[in-house]
Amino acid sequence: MCKWRQVRHHYTAEGCGHIWEIPNEEIKCASIQCIFSDYHPRTCVGQRCRQSCWQYHQFPEQHTRTIAAKCPNCARRG
Ligand SMILES: [Zn+2]
Ligand SMILES: [Zn+2]
Ligand SMILES: [Zn+2]
Repeated sequence: MCKWRQVRHHYTAEGCGHIWEIPNEEIKCASIQCIFSDYHPRTCVGQRCRQSCWQYHQFPEQHTRTIAAKCPNCARRG
């Protein structure tokens, strides 16, 4: 099932200590039983779809990348 990937960049205290939230990315599945999938049939709608198909995104994947540097904003300021 489809889910969101949430990525944050954590610039460590040796850099500037800021945390940047990167825009969410959708991770697509190939299931015909997921309304977000490209393979979900357009003819599957309404009550039937609600009963047989996945209507929500799954719990997001969360990643934190630690970067031992200043964030782009602070780097620009020097
Ligand atoms: Zn899906
Ligand atoms: Zn459906
Ligand atoms: Zn910063």
